[in-house]
Order: sequence, then structure tokens, then C-alpha cells
Amino acid sequence: MPTQEFTSGSAELLSMPIHELGLKIEGSRLEPILAEFDQELKRAGIRRLRPHYYLSTEWGVPWNSVSIAIPFYLARDDLTVLHARHNGHVEGTSRRDVLRYLRHEMGHVVNYAYSLYERQEWVHHFGSITQPYEEEYRPDPFSRRFVRHLPGWYAQKHPDEDWAETFAVWMTPGLDWRAEHADRPEALAKLRYCDRTMTALADRDPLITTEDRDEDVSNLKYTLGELYSHTATATEMPGGLDGSLRTIFEELGTWEDTTTTAPRRPAAGLLQRLEQDLPANVYRWTGHFPEHTRALLRHLARRAEELQQVYPADRELQASLAVTTLVTALAMNHVRHGSYLP
Ligand SMILES: [Zn+2]
Repeated sequence: MPTQEFTSGSAELLSMPIHELGLKIEGSRLEPILAEFDQELKRAGIRRLRPHYYLSTEWGVPWNSVSIAIPFYLARDDLTVLHARHNGHVEGTSRRDVLRYLRHEMGHVVNYAYSLYERQEWVHHFGSITQPYEEEYRPDPFSRRFVRHLPGWYAQKHPDEDWAETFAVWMTPGLDWRAEHADRPEALAKLRYCDRTMTALADRDPLITTEDRDEDVSNLKYTLGELYSHTATATEMPGGLDGSLRTIFEELGTWEDTTTTAPRRPAAGLLQRLEQDLPANVYRWTGHFPEHTRALLRHLARRAEELQQVYPADRELQASLAVTTLVTALAMNHVRHGSYLP
């Protein structure tokens, strides 16, 4: 089938086995960004180690390899749009954002290539690599013990991520990490360790140069539709949020409220529109995963529809702000206590 046929509609795209999409880094928007990143590595003084790039389902570095997996959906614009629609969260929205992820993944590559995690000083700063890797980590927002790089206080997920985030901050061009972390001694000590280590490794050959194309895009036999049905999460929704919705929307103005003559709009529509940006923002500042926030917004939209809630069109900013604050508070609860309502 010629390529233009799969771009004609998302239904056809969703039924395509991923390996048949013929995705490649070469010729894609990723190619010049990777070339730019290679230059960045040279300028950072990383002379003996070059990562190997390949397309897979998500960002990552297979254990003890120098291979960086890049989400395949970044290789084609229509797939990025499709991913945003089905997953709600694109990791690598712009050139700047892709470079940010690359610096983080390069941290893992350096860690494995030089077996840094076996060094006593590494363990002293970051902890043991054998700590369990918990997907649902519970970060302490704005903790002064960690650097801040990727959204969601990602350094707090695991020692390996703490190192990768530290490394990413260290190698970010033009960033004065010393000044930036002057008031965070523990995070600064990690950065200084990284700086010393990278200076010492500049002319040392890596111990490990293994390439591992785990879940390479050319081996993915399942379809995009199957991929996205697996990634949809079933988050348990709490009852008892109707009262919060009433507080917000009745305050703003019901049909009977004569303080504004503006036309009324359905609250459910607003909640649906917030799906586009709110989950990523909530994740950035709370660490609550975007897919959970998306499910929460859908739940609230269903309830708002059933309750036939409306708001005056001239108070949309206030309505968005009120919903954003409610959702953020619920997300923080979830991060702290493991559920939206304690
Ligand atoms: Zn990582």
C-alpha cells in the first residue's frame, strides 16, 4: 500500500500493524535534531561515547546498552497528532523538547557505558540501582534534594532517573547549573559529582558499547489501535465530586442567574476542551500521570453533562481556573495518599 493511503484517515492508520508503517529516523524531523544533539555531546566533552538511536514505543535505554529508544510517533507528524489524540501526552513536542529527552536518555547511556552505578560515590549521591522501579512514584514537589528537568519531578522516580536528570541538567547548553542550584546543596553536590566524573571520563573508552534494539519499531506486529487500547488506563473514579462541580458552576451562574445575560455554555464541553492541556500541566507540577488526569476530566465531564451544568460564556476564564484548581488539588491528593479522596 502506498504511504499516502494511510495518511488519509486515522481509522486506516489505527488498523495498521506498526512494523508495516515503514518508520525510519532517516528523512524524518528527528534526523536534524539528532545531528544537533551529536554536536551538543562533542561540546560537552563527551568524546569517546556515541549513542545509537532507534525507534520504539517510548523513550528509554535498554539496560546496559548504549541504545536510545525514541518514540516512533515522533517520526511522522500524522502519528504525533494521532498519539496526542489517543494518549493525551506527547513526550517531545518541539525540537527543544526532543533535545531535553535526549539529554536525559544520554544520562542512562553514560551510566551503563561506564558502569557508574557500581561506584561508591554514585551510590552515595543517588542510591542503589537495585531499588525497585516503581511506575507510580510519589514525588515531593519542589524538593531541594533533586534537580528539575523533565516534568513530574522525574528525578524522584528512581536512583537511575535521579542520575539521568542530573546529567541532563549538567549537559544543557547555556545553563548555569551552579547558580541555578546555589540554594539546593544536595542537588548541587550531585551536579558537582557529575561534572568531576564527566571530566575524568572525557578520554576514557566506554566499558560497554552494546547496542540493543529492544522493541524496535520494525518488530512491532500489533496495530496502533491495539497499542492505544492497551495504554488506556482504568483509573478508579471517586463518587462525591458532584458537590464540587455544583460549587464551581452554580457560583459562576446558572440559567436563572440574572447577574449576566451572556449565553450559557455546557460545562461538559469546557471539561473536554481542558483535556488538551491540563493533564500535561498537572503532571509537570504534581507528578500525577497525564492519563489519570485525562480519565478524571472525562469522568467530571460525564457528571457535568448528567447534571446539565452550564456557565456564562463571559466567565470562561473563571470556569477554567476553578476546574484547574479542583483537578490539581485532587491530583495532589492522589500523589500524597494514593487516592483522589482521602
Ligand atoms: Zn530515564
